[in-house]
Amino acid sequence: MKKQLFINYLLVAVLTMAIVQFGFSQNKDLPNIVILATGGTIAGAGESSTGSSYTSGQVGIEAMIDAVPNIRKLANLKGEQISNVGSQDMSVKIWLDLANRINKLLTDDVDGIVITHGTDTQEETAYFLNLVVKSDKPVVLTGSMRPSTALSAEGPLNLYNAVAVAASQEAKEHGVMVVMNDEIHSAHAVKKMITTPVQTFMSPQHGMLGTVIFGDIVFFHKPHGIHTVNSEFSVDGVTELSRVDIVYACADMSPDLIDIMVKAGAKGIIIAGVGDANMTEATLEAAKKATKKGIPVVRASRVPVGAVLIHGEINDEEYGTVSSDELNPQKARILLMLALQKDKDMSREKLQELFINY
Ligand code: ASP
Repeated sequence: MKKQLFINYLLVAVLTMAIVQFGFSQNKDLPNIVILATGGTIAGAGESSTGSSYTSGQVGIEAMIDAVPNIRKLANLKGEQISNVGSQDMSVKIWLDLANRINKLLTDDVDGIVITHGTDTQEETAYFLNLVVKSDKPVVLTGSMRPSTALSAEGPLNLYNAVAVAASQEAKEHGVMVVMNDEIHSAHAVKKMITTPVQTFMSPQHGMLGTVIFGDIVFFHKPHGIHTVNSEFSVDGVTELSRVDIVYACADMSPDLIDIMVKAGAKGIIIAGVGDANMTEATLEAAKKATKKGIPVVRASRVPVGAVLIHGEINDEEYGTVSSDELNPQKARILLMLALQKDKDMSREKLQELFINY
């Protein structure tokens, strides 16, 4: 009798440990997917279903999962709330928390990750994770343009499709992806292109990676650029990243802005240049002064599509500057922050190589 009691106790203990560890109601035939919620419009709520005003990050992850019919048929799901902010308030601290949590989960019995995220800075978080996640398992970001309370809110279907992609074997080795509006985009190529309509994410240079229609996935090609398991960057044990600022160029731009950023403590500068990452002669001179002080300056473009030529109108060797290649200013900032984290005295040549490869 005592022995039976002991065995029962042992069984309960083992089962409890399994549930606590995974939080999944385990169906062995389904993959284990963790949804990490960070906020955004997908978790937003407003007073009226037809009004445009709302507040991001109001709904918790469990309520979001429960709002999606049949989602639990795709995978064993567990939700975790990492933050609940509009992604205009996304921070390096949250990026580091996310990356470390994902790296931990993916070495455990987790087959894929979905991150719910505001769309404003979603491409930045996707690109950051693409460089520091150490796994070839699927990591998928999704969000929505309409809050959960809106007429025709598209968040539930986006979440369903994101879980379908994260749960699929086919999606492995594609780096970090963005799934929205039936499309799958790579972290490297994706850009927010339109302010409010649902077709906001596009990959104008490379095209989408594939499509996902009510959970049916088709991939067209692999992503461009080094990512995840092949990336040389790591944030293991990292608690902060160097300050890198972005300055937006225009006609008759004042060079003062570069000097102000240097004075304020920027360790790197990205210029969102005009056209092929050009800028006024005076700004170029200010950039040269900064690079002479050991502050890397990267030329990206304010134009949404196209690569920045290394030897176009500007001779980078003469000014000490670097071309961002295909990266827009906000993604160039992330690569420069990680490059500085790896080696704060990195040579201009090595930095240029990184921008070509990543
Ligand atoms: N401002 C919101 C955010 O990025 C917009 C959105 O999610 O669509 O969190």
